[in-house]
Amino acid sequence: MAPTERSPATFTLGIAAGLAARLDAGLNWDLVDLTSDFVGKRPALQDSVLVDVGWKTTPRLGLFRAGSFDAAEQETGQAQIVDVTAEYAEHSRSAKVVDHEQETSSGPSIEDADIIVAGGRGLGAPENFTLAEELARALGGAVGATRAVVDAGWYPYSAQIGQTGKVVSPKLYVALGISGAIQHKVGMQSSNVIVAINKDPNAPIFEFSDLGVVGDLHEIVPKLSELVRARRG
Ligand SMILES: Cc1cc2nc3c(=O)[nH]c(=O)nc-3n(C[C@H](O)[C@H](O)[C@H](O)COP(=O)(O)OP(=O)(O)OC[C@H]3O[C@@H](n4cnc5c(N)ncnc54)[C@H](O)[C@@H]3O)c2cc1C
Repeated sequence: MAPTERSPATFTLGIAAGLAARLDAGLNWDLVDLTSDFVGKRPALQDSVLVDVGWKTTPRLGLFRAGSFDAAEQETGQAQIVDVTAEYAEHSRSAKVVDHEQETSSGPSIEDADIIVAGGRGLGAPENFTLAEELARALGGAVGATRAVVDAGWYPYSAQIGQTGKVVSPKLYVALGISGAIQHKVGMQSSNVIVAINKDPNAPIFEFSDLGVVGDLHEIVPKLSELVRARRG
């Protein structure tokens, strides 16, 4: 991502801060949970602990990390839709949309995917992300990435998983050439099943994987994709 470009999370925080100022309301951000008596949970110290945060007044504003909750079934009734008329101040109209760009993807997004194949620096080069893409396609999943490869410009920021990316909890998470740094772990540790392929038997990711494969991903992944394709059809 270009340094001047603002991530969606930064953009949302800007809107929430403006709203909090206008409503004279308290704002807690980067939350991952909320109790029924309005105690928010926010990760701190590089996500190694959760701190309790609260609000002194109402209304209470909170921003949650993407993927912190599973979508809930609607319990009863219909959502109520209220039409409101908004009045804009002159400065609110001064921004102009200069271009629209849509990311094209043939598979599900990482927020919605039941299966994620994530690639790290162990892929060795940006073009090797095709290994992750092929496996994801064979499994019907989405492709994720570590910050190391996003910062290196190998893959877009929208695929970044972790402390400064997205929090995901798919049924299956396949990590290719990912060391398992704490900042990555906090974004994927709630996945149901974690499979890691790494050539270093001491890589930290094996400490929280359900299945670990020690070996060179360049040899293993093409064969795995082929096997999955053959099994599926
Ligand atoms: C404030 C802060 C926020 C951060 N936020 C995030 C975040 O949101 N998300 C994130 O991911 N990181 C984040 N990081 C960075 C994080 O600390 C790590 O640097 C990063 O996750 C490492 O990425 P990686 O696993 O791809 O690379 P590396 O740590 O370099 O690991 C590469 C792995 O690939 C393996 N490997 C190499 N070649 C092969 C091969 N041929 N076959 C198999 N395995 C191979 C190696 O053994 C190694 O374990 C953050 C850091 C900071 C300080």
